[in-house]
Amino acid sequence: MKKYLTLSILCITVLFVAHAAHAGTLFRLPFSSNPGYISWYDHNSASGAMTRYDCGTGYYYDGHNGTDFASSMGTTVLAGASGSLYYRLDGCSDSGADQTCGGSYGNHVRISHPSDGKVSIYAHLKNGTVVWPQSILCGGSVGQSGNSGYSTGPHMHFELWQNVNIGSRIDFYGGACGGSSYWVNQNNGWPTTTCQ
Ligand SMILES: [Zn+2]
Repeated sequence: MKKYLTLSILCITVLFVAHAAHAGTLFRLPFSSNPGYISWYDHNSASGAMTRYDCGTGYYYDGHNGTDFASSMGTTVLAGASGSLYYRLDGCSDSGADQTCGGSYGNHVRISHPSDGKVSIYAHLKNGTVVWPQSILCGGSVGQSGNSGYSTGPHMHFELWQNVNIGSRIDFYGGACGGSSYWVNQNNGWPTTTCQ
């Protein structure tokens, strides 16, 4: 009997762990349609080499900590998942005249996601980001794509933190050279607009 009990507990534990791997916040594409990519997250910044999530090549640079979408000036940027706005910054030049403004993020918005404490960052926006305090639903507008902060042309830098600390940055993409995917549907590198 004791053996069966132990086995049952083991099975329940395994089931729980398997389930837990799928819990947490997953993200949609932060636009109504995909503007294309400029740069991916680099998984190999320490060595000076560049490694994308799928070990592939592409337009990315050493030590890049987010995903750059090639969105044009004024493109509406959408929340990738529901959460609460806990930080925003406006006041940086829309044209990238001050590269250090906003800690190089320029005008940006940070959304905290309550199910697991992850934080999504929407950077280099135009002035006029969403006002706070405010809860934001998945797909809600957070602002418009711009060229503020450390940016050499209009695009949106999308970043994922495991918690409120900048040192916890991770990739949205999962693959052989990355980790788990945090997209609702990674769709072979072209995430869909489906909310979790
Ligand atoms: Zn970037």
